[in-house]
Amino acid sequence: MPQPSDNCIFCRIITHESPGKILYQDQQLTAFRDIHPVAPTHVLIVPNKHIASINDLEPADEPLIGKMFSLARQVARQEGVDQSGYRLIINNGPHAGQVVFHLHLHVIGGQRMRFPMG
Ligand code: 5GP
Ligand code: ZN
Repeated sequence: MPQPSDNCIFCRIITHESPGKILYQDQQLTAFRDIHPVAPTHVLIVPNKHIASINDLEPADEPLIGKMFSLARQVARQEGVDQSGYRLIINNGPHAGQVVFHLHLHVIGGQRMRFPMG
């Protein structure tokens, strides 16, 4: 079972120990702006509990994952990109370029996305 870590930057943002531009927070989830945005809107949605990656999910986390997508929809609407479109990305593991091992959903929009992916 993954544990919260003092060394995890996202855990520290969630607990307000480190600065972050938090847009939304509730009992389960936090949304904050990426420090190096790749587009006009670049928000990260994270579970408040430390889950390192998709590989560490448990069946009981399924409602949490559903809520991450509902929050992505809400963030997209608030950012005004829901109609123009946006990309949702989860990088999982080394080949995908995951850098921070606290599960996060990127919400990226405000410009036309580039292809190809991969
Ligand atoms: P990954 O490649 O793991 O999916 O992406 C990690 C993301 O976290 C990157 O887009 C990076 O810019 C962002 N990030 C890394 N450190 C920080 C930080 O301290 N604060 C914020 N807000 N974002 C961060
Ligand atoms: Zn963490």
